[in-house]
Parts: sequence; C-alpha cells; structure tokens
Amino acid sequence: QFESVGFIGLGNMGSRMVTNLVKAGYNVTVHDINCNAMKKFSDMGVPTKETPFEVAEASDVVITMLPSSSHVFDVFTGPKGLLQGGNLLRPWLLIDSSTIDPQTSRKLSVTVSKCNLKGKKDNLVIPVMLDAPVSGGVLAAEAGTLTFMVGGSEEAFLAAKPLFLSMGKNTIYCGKAGNGSAAKICNNLAMAISMLGVSEALALGQSLGISASTLTKVFNSSSARCWSSDSYNPVPGVMEGAPSSRNYDGGFASKLMAKDLNLAAESAKDIGKKCPLTSHALEMLVLTSCLLKKIN
Ligand code: NAD
Repeated sequence: QFESVGFIGLGNMGSRMVTNLVKAGYNVTVHDINCNAMKKFSDMGVPTKETPFEVAEASDVVITMLPSSSHVFDVFTGPKGLLQGGNLLRPWLLIDSSTIDPQTSRKLSVTVSKCNLKGKKDNLVIPVMLDAPVSGGVLAAEAGTLTFMVGGSEEAFLAAKPLFLSMGKNTIYCGKAGNGSAAKICNNLAMAISMLGVSEALALGQSLGISASTLTKVFNSSSARCWSSDSYNPVPGVMEGAPSSRNYDGGFASKLMAKDLNLAAESAKDIGKKCPLTSHALEMLVLTSCLLKKIN
C-alpha cells in the first residue's frame, strides 16, 4: 500500500531503521538537519530532501524519529514542516516513532486530522497520525527486531503493520492517539526502577559476601527475575554480551533513561498523579549522568 516512505531523523535509531526499510524494498526519501547524516544515504543512492515539506511531497507515508517533543512539533508544524499552512500534499499517514509525551502526540494527532489533504481532496480522506515509539535500542534497530507500541486509528495501524514489521518483530496496538507514547514511558518507568532495584540488591549482596553471579542465579530462578537480571545484568562479567561486560559500551545511556523518566514524571504531574518511585529514580539517574559527565 505504501511504496514511497519518507523518513525524518537519521540518528542512531533512524539511520538503522531506514536501512531496513530500504532492504525491504520501499522507496525511501530522507531528511535530517545534519548534512553528514544525510550524506551516508545520498552516497547509497537514497533521495535526500532539504525540508520536511519536500519529504511530504515525495511520500505516501512519513515516519519521524526525533530527539524530543519540541523537535517533533517543529518538523510537523514549522514553516517548512510536514503540515505547511494546514495542508498536507500527499501522505495520508504520519507516523511518529520518537519517544515523546502522550499530550504532544494527542495534540498533533488532532492537528493532523484537521488538515486539508490536497492530493486526495475528492476522496474525502482524513489524514491520520499514529504515535508508534519503539522498545529495543540501537542493536534492535539494526537487527530489525524493534517492538512498536502504537496509538491512533486501528485501521491506520493495520495498514502500517507491514512497515512496522520491516523494522521490527513485534507491533502492539495500544488504543487511541497518545496511547503508544503512554505505553512507552510506562514501560521505561518500570524498566528503570527494576534496573535500579537489581543494581542495589546485587551491590548489597556482594557487600554481604555473595558473588553477583550466584545471586543472579538465585534471582533468575526466583521472584526477582526481570529483564535487568536475566538479559541486561548490570555487573561486569556476570552475563556475556551484556553492555556491563564490555565496559558498558553500547548500553542504554543513563541520560536517555533520565529523559524517559522525566517524560513519565511530567505526564504524571500534568494529570495530578503521584508517582514517588519515578521521582526518586529520576533524581538518581540525573545524578549518575552528572557524575559520568564529570568523569568523562
Ligand atoms: P539521535 O540524537 O541519535 O538522532 C536524532 C536525529 O534527529 C539526529 O540525526 C538529528 O540531527 C535529527 N534532528 C533533530 N532535529 C531535527 C529536525 N528539526 N529536523 C530533522 N532532523 C532533526 O537520537 P536517537 O538515539 O536516534 O533517538 C531518536 C528517538 O528514539 C528519541 O526520541 C529517543 O528517545 C528514542 N529512542 C532511542 C533509543 C536508543 O537506544 N537510542 C531507544 C528507543 C527509543
């Protein structure tokens, strides 16, 4: 259904997702404000555009993979953005895979649905936005094994499923607009807190004289088992292949984790919900990021 795919944001995640779309046979057109990020693709023969608007002109569907809510807002509604002057030229579907707050996803979804779709005026097609953030880091983006959690129209989700599956191995429909973003920040909130818990418990265990490997074996056959204990163990040498066993190289940086926890904390504040563990975990991660900055 979608032959021409536009992609905006060619960073650590986006560049790898584009490579998988190209491999799957889609005609991809790309844009990034960083010329070096675009050069890699122009060298491969992938068309590059100077603005999001030009990407929209060339694409049936556009995917964005940007650092934060404000970047996404700019790319959608800025002067040379996807929705120039409240008009969409060609794509009826816009997919945002960035990790942003659900409120922004919902706001943009309403803005997109009010746009006039110029190319398809006679068909009365209403343009749609899906929020489709991902779980799995750079390695999963490269391997095409991301998990997409998707909010917005179910019909659009079904139409976009082949696209998701060319970049990932799981797609989960989460309900109305903004629910994909809500799912992502809740997932990362639970992950951050369990990771801190496993780290603290392993540190205490070692101080009490149990080796981290033995304690990990106990966790993984008992009720403390979680992703952080059985796949991403924080102690060097316990788990071959985990970032901790290669000097934390390629791991999920604490500054990215802090960004996601901050989104959760802000969303909770916005609706007047108290999330004390989120606030505490956020403080610890911000402190860790500052300490690491000083060391490096
Ligand atoms: P990144 O910083 O490596 O890449 C972002 C890209 O967007 C950069 O190339 C930047 O030049 C480009 N960009 C910024 N503003 C732009 C604009 N106005 N127009 C066009 N391009 C613009 O970030 P990343 O690691 O690829 O992450 C992207 C998103 O995915 C973030 O929201 C992040 O939270 C989320 N995410 C990241 C990971 C990870 O492990 N890195 C995992 C899951 C989700």
